[in-house]
Amino acid sequence: MLKLENVQSGYGNKLAIKDISIEIKKGEIISLIGANGAGKSTTLMTICGVVACRSGRITFQEEEIQKKNPDEIVSMGICQVPEGRHIFPELTVKENLDMGAFLRKDKEQIKRDMDYVFSLFPILAERRNQDGGTLSGGEQQMLAMSRALMAKPQLLLLDEPSMGLAPLVIKQIFEIIGQINKEQDTTIFLVEQNANQALRVADRAYVMENGGISFSGTAKDMLSNPDIQKAYLGI
Ligand code: ATP
Repeated sequence: MLKLENVQSGYGNKLAIKDISIEIKKGEIISLIGANGAGKSTTLMTICGVVACRSGRITFQEEEIQKKNPDEIVSMGICQVPEGRHIFPELTVKENLDMGAFLRKDKEQIKRDMDYVFSLFPILAERRNQDGGTLSGGEQQMLAMSRALMAKPQLLLLDEPSMGLAPLVIKQIFEIIGQINKEQDTTIFLVEQNANQALRVADRAYVMENGGISFSGTAKDMLSNPDIQKAYLGI
């Protein structure tokens, strides 16, 4: 579904990702783990066209996207939930969700999709008329994910969904990531520092170090790999 081949990108005269290759197949959950500053968020932003791809090739469903602008990439079916959530604080929960469906015209299906996200996150249904900015961190993460789902993406990019959340909320968010993947047939690319959770939900994973991919494999193999355990799982 998505292929990065020898991709490089960065900021000013600094390369933040160097010659990386990643492949994501339809229906998979792929995690990208790594330390602070390894280049994980930059990878997602390069896929979305927010940070320019300087060399290499990015293809989505066989079409090159590395020169397309972010709007075109969203309309092709790729949607990102950025780190820090970035919901609209002065709009209500319902209005935030409407914004997610902004590019769609299928009113009946939009209504069904809103019912679906409310079934995933009943707390959002209860708070549908509350301003986004007054939600807790966990509820804002739920809203950001739900808003992205309202765009009906084929590929959902999640940047650090667990950041700053309590363990119980993290558990709930990761269960729902698995549920979205199965029920909506949404392919998921997940960037996480919480390697434990990220590997538990994923089919395969990539490890990023200093802007490059240092390791990749099935999530199951990684969970039992002593080097990964030592470096990323605190075992
Ligand atoms: P974290 O988990 O802490 O978010 P990350 O793996 O997502 O880290 P990136 O945010 O992609 O890493 O950062 C990769 C490198 O690019 C870092 O050295 C960072 O300082 C640098 N960088 C990120 N954003 C910018 C920016 N807007 N301008 C200049 N340098 C940046």
